[in-house]
Amino acid sequence: MRRIKNEEIKFEFPADKFLEEICAEFVELFYSHPLVLEEIGYIGFADARGWDLGVQSSKFKVQSPENELRITIYESSENKIQKPKSKIQNQVDAVVIGTGAGGAPILARLAQAGLKVVALEAGKSFEYAKFATDEREQSKLFWTDERLSAGENAVAFGNNNSGCGVGGSTLHFTAYTPRPQADDFRIFTEFGVGRDWAISYEDLEPYFDELEWFLGVSGASPYPWGKQRRKGYPLPPLPLNGAARLMQRACEKFNIQTAPAPNAALSQDYFQEKIGVRHACTNRGFCQAGCSVGAKGSMDVTFLPLAVKHGAEIRSECFVTEFEFDSQGKIKAVVYSQNGKTEKINCSNVFLCAGGIETPRLLLINNLANSSAQVGRNFMAHTGVQVWGVFDEEIYPHKGIPGGLISEDTHRPQAKFNADFAGGYLLQSIGAMPVTYVSQLARGEKIFGSELNEWMQNYNHTAGINILGDCLPHANNFMELADEKDVRGLPKPRVYFSHGENENRMTAHAEKLMREIWTEAGAKKMWTFQRNAHIIGTCVMGDDAADSVVNKNGQSFDIPNLYIADNSIFPSALSVNPALTIMALALRTADRFLEGGI
Ligand SMILES: Cc1cc2nc3c(=O)[nH]c(=O)nc-3n(C[C@H](O)[C@H](O)[C@H](O)COP(=O)(O)OP(=O)(O)OC[C@H]3O[C@@H](n4cnc5c(N)ncnc54)[C@H](O)[C@@H]3O)c2cc1C
Ligand code: SF4
Repeated sequence: MRRIKNEEIKFEFPADKFLEEICAEFVELFYSHPLVLEEIGYIGFADARGWDLGVQSSKFKVQSPENELRITIYESSENKIQKPKSKIQNQVDAVVIGTGAGGAPILARLAQAGLKVVALEAGKSFEYAKFATDEREQSKLFWTDERLSAGENAVAFGNNNSGCGVGGSTLHFTAYTPRPQADDFRIFTEFGVGRDWAISYEDLEPYFDELEWFLGVSGASPYPWGKQRRKGYPLPPLPLNGAARLMQRACEKFNIQTAPAPNAALSQDYFQEKIGVRHACTNRGFCQAGCSVGAKGSMDVTFLPLAVKHGAEIRSECFVTEFEFDSQGKIKAVVYSQNGKTEKINCSNVFLCAGGIETPRLLLINNLANSSAQVGRNFMAHTGVQVWGVFDEEIYPHKGIPGGLISEDTHRPQAKFNADFAGGYLLQSIGAMPVTYVSQLARGEKIFGSELNEWMQNYNHTAGINILGDCLPHANNFMELADEKDVRGLPKPRVYFSHGENENRMTAHAEKLMREIWTEAGAKKMWTFQRNAHIIGTCVMGDDAADSVVNKNGQSFDIPNLYIADNSIFPSALSVNPALTIMALALRTADRFLEGGI
């Protein structure tokens, strides 16, 4: 990735940054070596007890009996994607582009309704059981095509913010799955900034219910914040790891309510109708490197096997480049490259779900769906500042479910926490795999050599908290096509991102609070990693064709048989992790399409 400053768009990489990047790459390599890992006390595979050392927990309420897992029927077949017997012929009802949080639910829904559907996915198909407990080996899950990143807060890509493979970014997401709250959809009405959604919480609520039970979300019931879940979570909470327990203890002192986070990782074996049984999380802690247990609700073990069972075909390593149109301006074929050859599939409808960068990039390359001039605009990335502390206790940050504890007390912190910004954030405890951690430390603190090693000697005593906060759309934050070409000869995307005053105030507020929490928990020293997470906006949804790319059902205003369902259509960032909402929107778009309502 290359970083360039907003005011000096010369496409040069400053020498000091270049050196930093080289050093950081070397640091990653060095700390990947087994002997170095052994030296910092990293003890390999997480087991069910390793994370339990040292840190005392206070109690939290567990699930009421009626919400405990009821379905314990085991099917003989494992939940892996079965290969279809034959290729669907080259004329289909719908082509779905991308198989991540947006594409996979749509593919399944359309296939279940009996439609002939094919998914085209740029990435490879992986067998989850073969995922290694090795961060460098698992970097194959990242989208590593170069993206030019510009602005004061240039967003990091690669292992951050993007995935590539059958299952998309969910292959290496952390599986935090909190719901947005109702007021998240009305930030403009509430604060006079940003943009309201054209739909409400209530429009998505049935889909949240369905998704939580389909994926097997583990969480606290009742959940302390927002509207009550009608059925509660299907599974009891996952055990809290070291960071979660420290955060829980300290938050009690500040009267900040916490709960085990809703997480789409299974706290018990779980049976999914028409898929089979998925096994419970083993606290391996490597969610962001791919779950080799199948416990994490990534798309490759949930919606995609369901889709294939109902006749959908998934074509991996197929990169979509173009579209062909009929005389009425409807898409009649999707063109893609596979093994260096150009292929084509004829179709009646297209669901574009390539994510917040590739979706607008494909549209801009083809000059499509952009009568509003909004394609690529409205780029947002959640405020996601992290504070890391070093403690006396043994924490083993790579063990246990990394997405452990949550607090939404800061959802609207204006009164209780004296906040001076619009929107809000949530607090989450975080785990860290060693190479990811050292890479952040080197890049964030710009320390190398013995100073870095000193911090890493404390790796097993390290715990993190981060926030997931709103981000407003600003005119100077957007994605465009660069003149430079990628290996396919297509223009590279260039993304501009700078915090506005609101993001700066929120970040400063959250950093202060998190430092207070870690001080209370007994941190001996701390450091802050400034970051933004998730790629949001760029094909905004709305009621008006003049300022929106798609309508509230995900349908393009310009091309009637083109639908977009991914992170790009969010009008505002929401102060929660996005995947559950992306999936809910995708299911809603599929249902509205099937009802003929769009
Ligand atoms: C490390 C990490 C941790 C995360 N943790 C969480 C979390 O805890 N909770 C949460 O809610 N969210 C989390 N996220 C974010 C979440 O995973 C994403 O927001 C979500 O998966 C985005 O869904 P999407 O459908 O928009 O895109 P993706 O899931 O990225 O899917 C897009 C797919 O389209 C494919 N594609 C792109 N271009 C083309 C093309 N031209 N032709 C064919 N295929 C193409 C890509 O290969 C990819 O598979 C995390 C993300 C990362 C990277
Ligand atoms: S912690 Fe659980 S969900 Fe995450 S990788 Fe390990 S087994 Fe999978």
